[in-house]
Amino acid sequence: MYELTSLKVTDCRRCRLSRSRTQIVNGSGHVGAAVMFTGEAPGKAEDLMGVGFQGQAGKIFDAMLAYLGLRRDQIWLNNAVRCRPLQGQKNRTPRPDEIQACRPWLLQDVDQIAPRLIITLGRISYASVTGYDDFATMRGKLVSVPGLPSVFPLFHPAYLIYRREMRPVMCHDLTALIRYMDEHDIEHSPGQPGLCLS
Ligand code: URA
Repeated sequence: MYELTSLKVTDCRRCRLSRSRTQIVNGSGHVGAAVMFTGEAPGKAEDLMGVGFQGQAGKIFDAMLAYLGLRRDQIWLNNAVRCRPLQGQKNRTPRPDEIQACRPWLLQDVDQIAPRLIITLGRISYASVTGYDDFATMRGKLVSVPGLPSVFPLFHPAYLIYRREMRPVMCHDLTALIRYMDEHDIEHSPGQPGLCLS
């Protein structure tokens, strides 16, 4: 369904995650996208499918996109790390050295897609894109980073699976994001107001 491009990393052994992955989960979407979304890391479903944000978190991500009036084939979607971090049989948070090892691929996407806006999903993604550790204060606001397009940090969709009470906060942030896109002529459809993460 989406265009997978020459931005594919076909082999990488820069960190230990290469030993346990089924496949590298490259970025997907539209190479001319104005908006890039960056998540944290592939989980089990993504490791098997090879495309980001499947499963439950993927459903929430798709609902966020629908609210914003965006489709997956209009955006670029990638992760801070491209291989699934495993602890036993379970997903785990990527370690700083793994994030560092994968960062050149992230920057290659930024360089080649040249988005006007990067939307980071969760604290790990925000830190890996910006190098900053002020996610809690900057979430839902525009962040300027020298050498990068503007960054807009949001909660990670998976966080909203367990913290349902935070969904209205996400919707508030998404509304601020729509305002920003409108003010900066970033193309999107009217979206689905009133259906935010319902
Ligand atoms: N969580 C992420 O951060 N990325 C995915 O692709 C899936 C789940």
